[in-house]
Amino acid sequence: MNYSPYEIKNDFTHLHVHTRFSIRDAIPNPKKLVDHAKKLGFDALAITDHGNMGGHHQFAVAAAATRNSDGDEVNPIKSIFGIEAYLCNNITVKESIVIEDSMGNKKSRRPKHYHIVLLAKNEKGYENLKAMSYISAVDGFYYEPRIDWDILQKYHEGLICSSACLAGEIAHSILNTNNNTKDIIDKYKQLFKDDFYLEVQWHQMEEETKAYSEIMNLSKEFNIPLLATNDVHYITQSDAVIHDQFVAMKFKRDEEQGGSSDTRNLSSAYKKPEFYLKTADEMVNNFSDNISAIINTREVVEKCEFNYPLEHPIIWPACEINIDNELSEWRNKYFPELSMKQAFLLYKSMGGLKKLGLSKNKDYIDRLKYEWNIIFDMGYEEYFITQLMVVNICNEKNVLMGPARGSAAGSLALYTLGITKIDPLKFGLIFERFLNPGRGIGFNHNLPIMENNTKPKADVVKTIQPMETAKIEI
Ligand SMILES: [Zn+2]
Ligand SMILES: [Zn+2]
Repeated sequence: MNYSPYEIKNDFTHLHVHTRFSIRDAIPNPKKLVDHAKKLGFDALAITDHGNMGGHHQFAVAAAATRNSDGDEVNPIKSIFGIEAYLCNNITVKESIVIEDSMGNKKSRRPKHYHIVLLAKNEKGYENLKAMSYISAVDGFYYEPRIDWDILQKYHEGLICSSACLAGEIAHSILNTNNNTKDIIDKYKQLFKDDFYLEVQWHQMEEETKAYSEIMNLSKEFNIPLLATNDVHYITQSDAVIHDQFVAMKFKRDEEQGGSSDTRNLSSAYKKPEFYLKTADEMVNNFSDNISAIINTREVVEKCEFNYPLEHPIIWPACEINIDNELSEWRNKYFPELSMKQAFLLYKSMGGLKKLGLSKNKDYIDRLKYEWNIIFDMGYEEYFITQLMVVNICNEKNVLMGPARGSAAGSLALYTLGITKIDPLKFGLIFERFLNPGRGIGFNHNLPIMENNTKPKADVVKTIQPMETAKIEI
């Protein structure tokens, strides 16, 4: 089939793109990345951050936007949602291994994991991405969020799989002249069937020549389509310099913490300044010998039909509270219109005011009423209960906390609950900077847990994980 250059240019879409949510590995802000893609004339774009989906919302909003960061009118583009997962042999193995180099030097390294690109075709696929992302962070985490083949088998439905970069299992097998590359390809093909692609990248690196000439042969032998990508880690070519410095910090950290699982090192992983969002022309030129690899990106774009919902209800962590007779009676007598959780907070808050010797002071009572009315009207009671729970655990564990942080110092409700230690009326601090209906949703209050006190902080986080069963005694 012959394609005109114009058609080819319009057929290419970037399907392997990292944002700053690829922690310590890539720098693009999703909004700026999308603005740039629109400027280059792309009508679709995927993001595939390492092991997490944290950038998806910002990406979806930017892709749907009709104005760019400068306020100019732009067209929305199709957004495709993926991850580049870390695939290890077994997520339960969480210890370093000792390897010996050719000189006989012993070195500690984390267990090897491979890169694998997964894109959501539909809702089922997106649910499966979420499931795997959760498992990788909670059960599979060992320096990085990891999955293994058993997990992939369970959650592969609705996903397109691409064999990723030189750190993918297939390229790694080719480069290490293992003789089981065909078995590996067969394994992927059996699982993903027509949704499995062999990825080819060209960042002008020697190893790529070897890996990808072999991948092209295997593509013909197994009749598996090729997919051309550029491993985007920064937006423009001039960002390569800052990206080098950025990843240097990651490699330094990895060396200090028992060695990277990545056998590459900084000098070879990104040695050429080619990891930017290339134009369609540049990509077509890079793959002029294998134009099907370019055309197939359009096939993938068409397969991906998942519509990311831009409107999300806020889901607060649900905290259980102990309800005793005293609280029930108090609520029924004075505030029957409040829910039990609202009554719980008000009861604690008024108890706090009494302890401060201010329960007869009209200014304080009026201010407290005003604040709680706003908090309850905005439906933030679960958030306040969660904060109270964290502070209680910190107090129990003697974790040092500061008096207050930011606009939260303006809340008498927080002060009477003992979450902050500053009397806002005494210092003339206003509540509205912290919370007001006009500010809309999305406020947050950072608890002033001391930053250099990491060990007890980690203990607190562990303690609060089972939110559903957390109890607060009145
Ligand atoms: Zn990769
Ligand atoms: Zn990548």
